[in-house]
Amino acid sequence: MAQPRVLVIGGGLAGLSATMRLAELGINVDLVSLVPVKRSHSVCAQGGINSVNSLTRQQGDSEWKHFDDTIYGGDFLQHQPPVKEMADWGPRIVDLMDRLGVPFNRTPEGFRDQRRFGGTLFKRTAFAGATTGQQLLYSLDEQVRRWEVEGKVKKWEFWDFLEPVLDDAGRCRGAICQDLVTMQFRAFPADAVILATGGCGLLYGRSTMSMVCTGSAVSRAYRAGAWYGNGEFIQVHPTAIPGADKLRLMSESARGEGGRVWVPKTPHDPRDPRDIPESERSYFLEERYPKYGNLVPRDIATREIFDICTNEGLSVEKDRLCVYLDLTHVPRETLDRKLGGILEIYEKFQGVDPRVVPMKIFPAVHYSMGGLWVDYEKSSTGGLVEGSPRNQQTNIPGLYAIGECDYQYHGANRLGANSLLSCIFSGLFCAPGVIAGCDAGGKKAAEESSRLFESGLRREEERHRALLVRTAGDENPYDLHQQLGNLMTRVATVVRRNEQLAAAYAEVCSLEERWRRCAVSDSGNWTNQNVVFTKSLGDMFPLAKLILKGALQRDECRGAHYKPDFAMPDIHATDPAEKRREAEAWCDRFEASTRRWLKSTVAKCGPEGEPEISYQDVDTSLMPPRPRLYGLVGGEEIEEVWKERQRAAGVGGDAQKKSPAYAGATT
Ligand SMILES: Cc1cc2nc3c(=O)[nH]c(=O)nc-3n(C[C@H](O)[C@H](O)[C@H](O)COP(=O)(O)OP(=O)(O)OC[C@H]3O[C@@H](n4cnc5c(N)ncnc54)[C@H](O)[C@@H]3O)c2cc1C
Repeated sequence: MAQPRVLVIGGGLAGLSATMRLAELGINVDLVSLVPVKRSHSVCAQGGINSVNSLTRQQGDSEWKHFDDTIYGGDFLQHQPPVKEMADWGPRIVDLMDRLGVPFNRTPEGFRDQRRFGGTLFKRTAFAGATTGQQLLYSLDEQVRRWEVEGKVKKWEFWDFLEPVLDDAGRCRGAICQDLVTMQFRAFPADAVILATGGCGLLYGRSTMSMVCTGSAVSRAYRAGAWYGNGEFIQVHPTAIPGADKLRLMSESARGEGGRVWVPKTPHDPRDPRDIPESERSYFLEERYPKYGNLVPRDIATREIFDICTNEGLSVEKDRLCVYLDLTHVPRETLDRKLGGILEIYEKFQGVDPRVVPMKIFPAVHYSMGGLWVDYEKSSTGGLVEGSPRNQQTNIPGLYAIGECDYQYHGANRLGANSLLSCIFSGLFCAPGVIAGCDAGGKKAAEESSRLFESGLRREEERHRALLVRTAGDENPYDLHQQLGNLMTRVATVVRRNEQLAAAYAEVCSLEERWRRCAVSDSGNWTNQNVVFTKSLGDMFPLAKLILKGALQRDECRGAHYKPDFAMPDIHATDPAEKRREAEAWCDRFEASTRRWLKSTVAKCGPEGEPEISYQDVDTSLMPPRPRLYGLVGGEEIEEVWKERQRAAGVGGDAQKKSPAYAGATT
């Protein structure tokens, strides 16, 4: 067999790590990206990357605990073997990035400095100031350039992935892409295609994500038959700067370095926040979750901020919902050294120095836990079989997905600083399996491929031409995008209600219908951004529909998905016997809900383009599900009842310690 050729779509952290690893293994790679790879959205990542390290080990941390935090943080919705493998690789990945030249912050002794992020009690996050994503991306970019010079990698920047090309047996044989400068089309035959195309935040209009995060590539793969997993799980980050054009993130690292979230106890207190005494402030996260304080997982912090502003009426401002994020007690020198990048952003866009005055922040759409469904092969020790072609492969043979565009690692809620790890891990880890999978091709299919590519090219050229001549439609794509974003933000973020979700589904169908009547104002065939945006807007509707349908059908609360009608009740009783009875009832309900809903949502694109939803069991073989309380005040009784039940059933504790996966744990 000739040397395989792999097509990688996307040059963020996931795409660059896969490209680097494939090239190291001797494979030729075509690397396609909408934007120059150094401008990929990964460049925005601020706070850091997680892994166990020598400091946390001294405090009793281990890879197992990182795994446990990730699964617990994700509300047990992710398959456990891939997460275990990722946590095991964490220390090696951070060491590797250090060796590749990432300027991680150092302690005075020269060790890598670490900070604490949400959902853990350990300082597990390595960081390069508050521009960690940029430093990681640039280091990987340098490596890929090295292979470019060697002739192993060919980069195609400003190219748009339009569709995967499948043969008659349904195997992926390459892709059709378009040059965004000349607008010419090109077929890319390949022995395997890896999608590393990031998230789909633009579906929500304004988000913390870059303007290229439209989800177009994933939507195109979905319509070609790839399944989409856990679409309804969208992360809303608790701390962003509200803005008319865009929502700008104030990284969790601000709280990791001591930032405190509070509101005045008097609604809309007009005083300068610095004049409000401690006794007149509510540090509501610290009060409700004393164990984790300001660093509870994002879904919890977001919901609490939303609750304090909307239900308790304690928003700092009357006409704009927001709370204070206060760093003013942290020394200026520490802030500049560790958080300079994000504080400059606040100062630039708000005109206020956050070192002196508390910031005003509010939650914003930030990340998609859902993504293309991918497979894995479990090893006998509970992790993954290295080199298995099943790892990261979608249901379409030969088509892989890695990074934010897969659904594999973060379940119902992603822990901060785990995404950079999952992106680099999935990129590095999948490469040997992708190569092994290339053998499955076959000569006959290769001979057939010119027919397949010609028809793919014709199809895409036709679609493009049809859009270009549509200059007389009565709909404006930018206006439709705004309507879609407003709708999704209103019904499918923090709080979800079935009647609203059902109505929104119908509204999205109608927006999609109107999109078919969109006019393009630019009919030229040279760097036509107007037509590219209109196409990607069309790709947002199938994803919006699967998010809404998945959310509508899931009648429970799990991680980022919260429906008040199905919320677990609080424990109100004070009498011990009654308290116990309520806790027993709570655990009964939790068990019933787990039996019914601890399932991955899998969306398949139906013949009419409508999502067909089914459910798959989640592999919880390494750690049994447990109530997710984070030391919530009043939750102690529930925790106690739950532990008694687990002991009686022989689950957890000793049973877990006998598991082979537990063998290396240092707890
Ligand atoms: C403001 C911000 C801060 C963050 N900070 C952190 C952090 O501190 N720690 C952490 O763990 N996570 C963080 N995250 C999340 C993290 O940055 C992302 O999840 C991660 O970088 C995604 O990387 P990726 O490689 O999957 O995709 P991306 O970096 O988004 O790259 C996608 C690539 O796909 C290409 N592409 C997309 N569509 C097409 C198409 N149709 N055709 C061709 N190419 C295409 C793009 O050009 C790009 O090269 C942050 C996110 C935001 C928004």
